[in-house]
Amino acid sequence: MAGYNDFPLSIYNSYSREKEVFTPIHEGHVGLYVCGPTVYNFVHLGNVRTFMTFDVLYRYLSHLGYKVRYVRNITDVGHLVDDVDEGEDKIAKKARLDNLEPMEVVQMYTNDFHDTLRLFNFISPSIEPSATGHIIEQIQMVQQILDHGFAYEVNGSVYFDVLKYQEAKGNYGKLSGRVLEDLINNTRELDGQEEKRNGLDFAIWKNADERHIMKWPSPWGVGFPGWHLECSVMSTKYLGKQFDIHGGGMDLKFPHHECEIAQSVAADGEVPVRYWMHSNMLTVNGQKMSKSLGNSFTPAELITGNHPLLKKGYSPMTVRFFRMQSHYSSTLDFSNDALEASEKGYKRLMNALRALQQLSHSKGNLNTELEAEIENNLNQAFLNLSDDLNTAKCIANLFDLATRINSFSAKKLATGAISEKLFARLQKDYSAIIVDILGIQAEESGSSSVVDQLMQLVIEIRQEARQNKDFATSDKIRDALGAAGIQLKDGADGTGYTLN
Ligand code: AMP
Ligand code: ZN
Repeated sequence: MAGYNDFPLSIYNSYSREKEVFTPIHEGHVGLYVCGPTVYNFVHLGNVRTFMTFDVLYRYLSHLGYKVRYVRNITDVGHLVDDVDEGEDKIAKKARLDNLEPMEVVQMYTNDFHDTLRLFNFISPSIEPSATGHIIEQIQMVQQILDHGFAYEVNGSVYFDVLKYQEAKGNYGKLSGRVLEDLINNTRELDGQEEKRNGLDFAIWKNADERHIMKWPSPWGVGFPGWHLECSVMSTKYLGKQFDIHGGGMDLKFPHHECEIAQSVAADGEVPVRYWMHSNMLTVNGQKMSKSLGNSFTPAELITGNHPLLKKGYSPMTVRFFRMQSHYSSTLDFSNDALEASEKGYKRLMNALRALQQLSHSKGNLNTELEAEIENNLNQAFLNLSDDLNTAKCIANLFDLATRINSFSAKKLATGAISEKLFARLQKDYSAIIVDILGIQAEESGSSSVVDQLMQLVIEIRQEARQNKDFATSDKIRDALGAAGIQLKDGADGTGYTLN
């Protein structure tokens, strides 16, 4: 198996703005933290793109032989509407609108998140902590920051003092490339900042008024933690005051990640993260996919094709392949044409993999040129993955290999043209790269669990449509399934299905 000494990994570190050779703090071990979803809504395909980047990173690090502790949190409190310090909590707002307990909202969308990730063949993280499960630790960190003089209390809220921090530590703005003076000028005009010494300061603990439903007692009165604080707390609690890699979407660089660094330095005196990795956005016609812009679709809509942006439905593995064809640091623009091309690419890859698994080695005349080519492509596939996770170039290597595999399979080439050892390596590594590292798997009819997962999701969407009295959608789903030979059966215990 390819190890980390054979193919040393380089990572583009957003903090240093350079590609660096990855050296973990503890040899052979990696601590990885990724900002998880705010569970107040269905995840959309843009969210999936970001999480998929880190799923591949986790898979690749593990394949290289690292023992990885992967922590991805669930944000279930503190993330306020519009990402600023004023306004309602996103989860509390949804609970109010839908007349639910906040924890019902959290559970519902956490379930949806997990269902979605399973559908796209994600590996679960080692730890999935939630912000509400770490209130005590968050209070402790607020206290530490206060004790060190980098925060102040006003009316039961505690604010981080950015200017004081900058004077002492000087690194605020380093990650995001923002200049403090510009930030000060831009924040002056915002409303609702009266309590802050400076508009740039951010809440690490917020006082909760009577109407607020998610709140906890603290030394400063009843309140709730700031959004940025939770990630500082949960990452360092499980990975140490300094850990190896922190990931998230590019849009989280500022203010979220910038504030995370400041909080950890203020509390513990150490820069918390060695390598920052930021995954770029999924766009639609050049615009970031986002719920609020109305240009997002959920995985269920993608699969059923039930969305104005979609010409038809696409399978989860087609989407996974689509994602792998781009580098994580580039924007990826959604289009039906691109997905149709990915559909073909995915099939080509899986056909080659299946053919290779059915082949066996037979004695023949060695072709040293061919051997060198195959060996080079295999090595190159790993070198590309080790080069800041270049899945796009890695797929190009896999396609080159597919051409050779197809020649073996069509008997245009004898398998004996390469040595038994290289043939065995080709079989092992080809499958390892596609299935274990890129997470791309077969999803034809034989894969009943994938069908089942898909069906559970479709049934859920139909139920929601019915609850919302959107009978046009629920009928459309039932009719489309019927046309595909799938009958839905509504019963007392919920909805089941039969395949004809
Ligand atoms: P949220 O639940 O809003 O905190 O977002 C969860 C993750 O999805 C974050 O890492 C975001 O950066 C990421 N994200 C949101 N929109 C997109 C998008 N259009 N493309 C890629 N990632 C996104
Ligand atoms: Zn975070």
